[in-house]
Parts: sequence; structure tokens; C-alpha cells
Amino acid sequence: MKRVYNFSAGPAVLPEAVLQQAANEMLSYGNSGMSVMEMSHRSKEFQSIIDQAEADLRTLLAIPENYKVLFLQGGATLQFSMVPLNLFQNKEVDFIHTGAWTEKAMEEASRYGKVNVIASSEDRSFTYIPNLDELSFSKDADYVHICQNNTIYGTRFTSLPDTKGKILVSDMSSNILSEPIDVEKFGLIFAGAQKNIGPAGTTIVIIRDDLITKNYLEHTPLMLQYKLHADKGSMYNTPPTYGIYICGLVFKHLLATGGIPAMYERNLKKAALLYDYLDSSNLFHGTVQKADRSLMNVTFKTDSEDLDKQFVTLAKEKGLVNLKGHRSVGGMRASIYNAMPYEGVMALVEFMKEFEREHLS
Ligand SMILES: *Cc1c(COP(=O)(O)O)cnc(C)c1O
Repeated sequence: MKRVYNFSAGPAVLPEAVLQQAANEMLSYGNSGMSVMEMSHRSKEFQSIIDQAEADLRTLLAIPENYKVLFLQGGATLQFSMVPLNLFQNKEVDFIHTGAWTEKAMEEASRYGKVNVIASSEDRSFTYIPNLDELSFSKDADYVHICQNNTIYGTRFTSLPDTKGKILVSDMSSNILSEPIDVEKFGLIFAGAQKNIGPAGTTIVIIRDDLITKNYLEHTPLMLQYKLHADKGSMYNTPPTYGIYICGLVFKHLLATGGIPAMYERNLKKAALLYDYLDSSNLFHGTVQKADRSLMNVTFKTDSEDLDKQFVTLAKEKGLVNLKGHRSVGGMRASIYNAMPYEGVMALVEFMKEFEREHLS
């Protein structure tokens, strides 16, 4: 069976070389005589898999010594609870509201404290990132929460807010490892693995040491305490072992192909190819303010819902799959994560040109 170009927003495309290696190691990892899936998480082999995955992620993102890396479960969504449960001291948080993912995070945080929306792009259906120069932070806010790349609307922060010393928490589920970041600018970074890293089921948290305290809110379940996971090396209970193994292979693959700077270059080229075409097209148009366009999730539409539907259906027949926009916004969305090859974006643009020729004449 020929592989398709999979533009899914998540779970999403993985590097073919990684899938091939996983296939080769499926029945026996090294000399173990068993699959990683069948291995005790307390085994020497698995300990070295998780240690290596962490070390490689640290190298890729130049994570400073005073940050811990945690491999957790529950998706990015559970972080919407864990972050306030662990970081709330005054029980107040400032949000930059950029769509569905901050909406959900606010809903959770408001169960435990006060949520302030200090900026929002809701007035124009979240098609832009609010101006970051005019923010005013709340005196008692424990931290500032942003979603750095909005997977649904296709927006991206191209710079970070200057939080005036307040802890910055970033949901990087759909942009982690796609562009260089300065980890020191953040108190906490979290990402579900299934967009740009590995299979669903693993969640990565990068957290500054001093935020790992016993000051979590009363009744915080043990499993939701960063301190416990940090103390236990992400092995308080059985971690998502196979997912961590695949994440580790993806990290190795990234390192072998030039690391984040090279990946960023490729991502810029892929995104430019698609956006340049969108800007020149008389049929399709991008839906996001140009300066705030995502490199990972490219949202676009025609002026007709019927045509949008036809496009998605015909594209699928050509092996260009999962191009339907999120159910809440409609239109189309091409997720072009790290593992989407340049050729995939080329094939998409060629097909869009063909579709445009047929439907504009
Ligand atoms: C997908 C996504 C989430 C939700 O992730 P789950 O792993 O399904 O909980 C949260 N934030 C962003 C930015 C996402 O893209």
C-alpha cells in the first residue's frame, strides 16, 4: 500500500525512517528478544530508552540544567488542570486568549481560581494574535498562559510577550520542535506528543526547578503533582513506554538531520510554498492575518462551502488526506508538521492549482 500525504492536525504524520526503524525493532528491541511494548518499565533497557530520549530532547532544545523534563500522560488537556493545581499561589492567572485551546485551559483554571483575559482575538474569530506590546498584567497573577501555535485557527506567536518577570506558561502542542525557542523565557512548556513529536499518549512537560514545589493546591491528586513525577523520574507509575520510545526515535532523527535550525529552515520553506500560492490564487485564500500565520497549520478556504467539500474529497482521491478544516471553523487546514516532506506540500499546491484551473474557467 502506497503511503499518502497525511495533513492531519493530530495524531499526525511521523518520519518514515522512524516508522521503519520501529518496524525493524518490533519483534526484538536490540538483543532483548521482545518488543519495547512488552518490556518492564523498570528494566535496564527501558531506563536507557527514557534517559536517551530525555538527553536528546535536552540537546535539541538546549534545555538548561535547572529545568526538568517530564514524560506524562493525559494529553495537553490534563495540563490545563495540572498547571493551575501546581502553580496557583494567589490563585489568579492571566491569559492571552487565542481560541479553543486557551478557552479550554481557562475553563479548567477557573475551577481553582480567578482567570483574567488580558488580551483576546475573539473579536475577529481568532484569526490573529493580539498586540503583545500593550499588555497589562494583573498584580496577583501567578503566571501568564499562552498557546503559542493555535492548531485550529492556524495562528502563531512570532514573538513572546514581555511578562515583566511573571512566569510564562506555553502550550506548544503543535509547534514544539518546529522552530528554535529559548527555554529560559518560559517557566513551563507543555505539549501533547501527537502533533509534532510522536504517538498520542505521551505528554511532555519542561518545567523550571523552582516551580516544582509542594505548594500545589490541597487535594491535588498525587498523579497531578509535578513534584512527584520529577522525584520519580517520570516513573511513579507505568509511563507510556512505547510512546516514549517513538518520541526518542523522532528526537534522534531530528538530531541526525540537522536539529531544530535545519528543521526550522525546512518548515519556513514548506509554509512559504503554500502561503505564496494562497496569496496568488484567485480561488483559495488564507484565513489568518499574514503576520500571524502558523508554520504548522495552514488554514484556507474558497468562497463556497460546496467547493471546499469537493476539494477535500478530490484531494483524498489523489492521496492528499485529512485536509478538512476543524469542525468549528470549516474550510480547509493543511497541517504541515516537521514530518511532512516538502514534496507533500508541492503535491498539495500542484493539486490546488489544477483544482483552481478547473473551477475558475
Ligand atoms: C491538540 C492540542 C491540545 C489538546 O491535546 P490533547 O493531547 O488532545 O489533550 C491542546 N493544545 C493544543 C495547542 C493542541 O494542538
